[in-house]
Amino acid sequence: MRLADATWTDVRDADVDVAFVPVGSTEQHGPHAPLGTDTLDAVAVAEAGAAAYEAAGEPSADADAAGEAAVAPPIPVGVAEEHRAFDGTMWVSPDTFRAYVREAAESLPAHGIDRIIFANGHGGNVAALAEVARQFSRDDAHDGYAVAFTWFEAVGEHAGDMGHAGPLETALLRATNPALVREDRIGAAREGAADRWGEWVSGVNLAHDSDEFTDNGVVGDPSAGDAERGEELLDLASDALAELAAAVVERESV
Ligand SMILES: [Zn+2]
Repeated sequence: MRLADATWTDVRDADVDVAFVPVGSTEQHGPHAPLGTDTLDAVAVAEAGAAAYEAAGEPSADADAAGEAAVAPPIPVGVAEEHRAFDGTMWVSPDTFRAYVREAAESLPAHGIDRIIFANGHGGNVAALAEVARQFSRDDAHDGYAVAFTWFEAVGEHAGDMGHAGPLETALLRATNPALVREDRIGAAREGAADRWGEWVSGVNLAHDSDEFTDNGVVGDPSAGDAERGEELLDLASDALAELAAAVVERESV
């Protein structure tokens, strides 16, 4: 169930086990991929994950007891100041982000939806979302429990190729939103790309902003991620999200 498309009576009458809250960003993704890449990819994984969850059913219950996974509307602006040098990038402070995401999530337990998974698409949101999930779960005002999931950390051996606007994100876009990939700019995107994210010494990244190590915003080779690879990534990430959801639904509240 996509929450924004449902009516309130639909939600009242549904048996919602868990809500996926897609969390993205509006930030540069090189000359070839849209500013909304992280949001688009997070939504695609959340929707595929909801379908996979509902198809699998609750593992230890009989099939009739399996409920739905609701997909909340996405949070489109995140912790992305590191891309401030590139036009169109938007960001909020980690404090504002944590407060907003947490309060948005806290509206769901009022309707009996007290299992929440943040389905994240942006690396800069990871630390803040982990904190939101902990605070949400520890809150004595409700019985809610939340965890944060980041799709590109749940794609097996592909994960090492992450980069930025590189093979993985471009592949997932090609599979799910192909019209938004500027295929005629892939060559330029590859040529201006950095090989790795950051500038590392003794385990410390010296670069606070992405323009310190990439000229066009890209890290990795976007031509190494075709639509077929994107479908594989979508399957891996959505299956991982469905498996996580089953565990979150089964788990006792903390
Ligand atoms: Zn991204």
